[in-house]
Amino acid sequence: MSVELGMPKPRDTAGAAEAATTPGVPPARPSYAPAGLADRYGRRATDMRLSLTDKCNLRCTYCMPAEGLEWLSKQAVMNAAEIERIVRIGVDHLGVRELRLTGGEPLVRADLLDIVGAIRRNHPDLPISMTTNGVGLDKKAAALKAAGLTRINVSLDSLHEETFTKLTRRPFLNRVLTGIDAAWDAGLGPVKINAVLMRGINDTSAVDLLTWALSKSYELRFIEQMPLDADHGWTRSDMITAADIRKLLSTEYVLSSDPRARDGAPAERFEVRRRVAGTTGHGTESATGELLGTVGIIASVTEPFCADCRRTRITAEGKIMSCLFSREEFDLLGLLRSGASDEELAGRWQDAMWIKPKAHGMDHVGLDAPDFVQPERSMSAIGG
Ligand code: SAM
Ligand code: SF4
Repeated sequence: MSVELGMPKPRDTAGAAEAATTPGVPPARPSYAPAGLADRYGRRATDMRLSLTDKCNLRCTYCMPAEGLEWLSKQAVMNAAEIERIVRIGVDHLGVRELRLTGGEPLVRADLLDIVGAIRRNHPDLPISMTTNGVGLDKKAAALKAAGLTRINVSLDSLHEETFTKLTRRPFLNRVLTGIDAAWDAGLGPVKINAVLMRGINDTSAVDLLTWALSKSYELRFIEQMPLDADHGWTRSDMITAADIRKLLSTEYVLSSDPRARDGAPAERFEVRRRVAGTTGHGTESATGELLGTVGIIASVTEPFCADCRRTRITAEGKIMSCLFSREEFDLLGLLRSGASDEELAGRWQDAMWIKPKAHGMDHVGLDAPDFVQPERSMSAIGG
């Protein structure tokens, strides 16, 4: 049950200056800050992204370096009981309404089923989804469903074996495809597929991916590549934009805006119909083909949706990040381990979210401005 109202009380702002100078401690939010995970711009975070690990068994070029990263020690990473408590504080005290487990690769965590089961027991109605690369999912999909996972997102950037291997630096395409099918069979649908397109590598795969996803009734979502790769190789000129993606798909399909409300979702959804003779190829003409399904495009770089952002992030080592591009992060796990009460932990989380930046500054103007600095953490170390 949510007990969001009046809980906990904002701290006196007198300590703000001191806190601001302590690394990992956010300044206190003002006493007029509303309940829940509110920020200065009137947004309220209700969607929690929780990273279970920084480790991964793939090395996607847009995310990790070939040799991997220096992994966190086991002690540094939240254990199952700590995760369970942090989720409980988010849901029971702070108005979190949905949870996404991510990483690194969440499937590499040996106690994953215990974690999902414990969260489900505490929160029978909470939508719990997981983003995974799908390697090993075939063996765990049914158990994850039984433990209480609601739904799954699997990342897949190409159906072409050589391209997949080049992009992920691992020859695991078939294992991913088997994993996706197993998730569907286990009832973890709707299965969403996340794809990042890279110029000259897999941009020619866009239509194939959509044709395949439609044939399987999976919901494909293209994600614009963000400057969050550990190699710092991202360039604007190489990025495949949302506009490029719409153009690539319109060679074969007609896309029209999905009439359903977007409702804070990062993906803009389009209905997909087959291109029929007489249409022009720009995707704006009225489509006469049969409705085949939908496709989503997450245009984080070129069409940012910061004004409507509802996300709060907890990294694998229990740091609060209000945005993927935060250069500030605040320690929740250290406070928890020091014996803090639920109220104190909730207060720290609220303070950290109160100063969430208005926007990530990654849009065209921001990126070209001299003050845009790529965050130190790569996507795998944040939890995408
Ligand atoms: N390992 C899991 C996976 O790949 O699905 C979960 C973690 S991964 C960091 C989460 C999502 O972030 C994936 O869908 C991945 O494609 C996406 N991602 C990683 N690096 C990215 C980048 N630089 N730009 C856009 N999306 C990225
Ligand atoms: Fe691993 Fe996911 Fe990053 Fe790929 S995108 S390297 S699968 S964490």
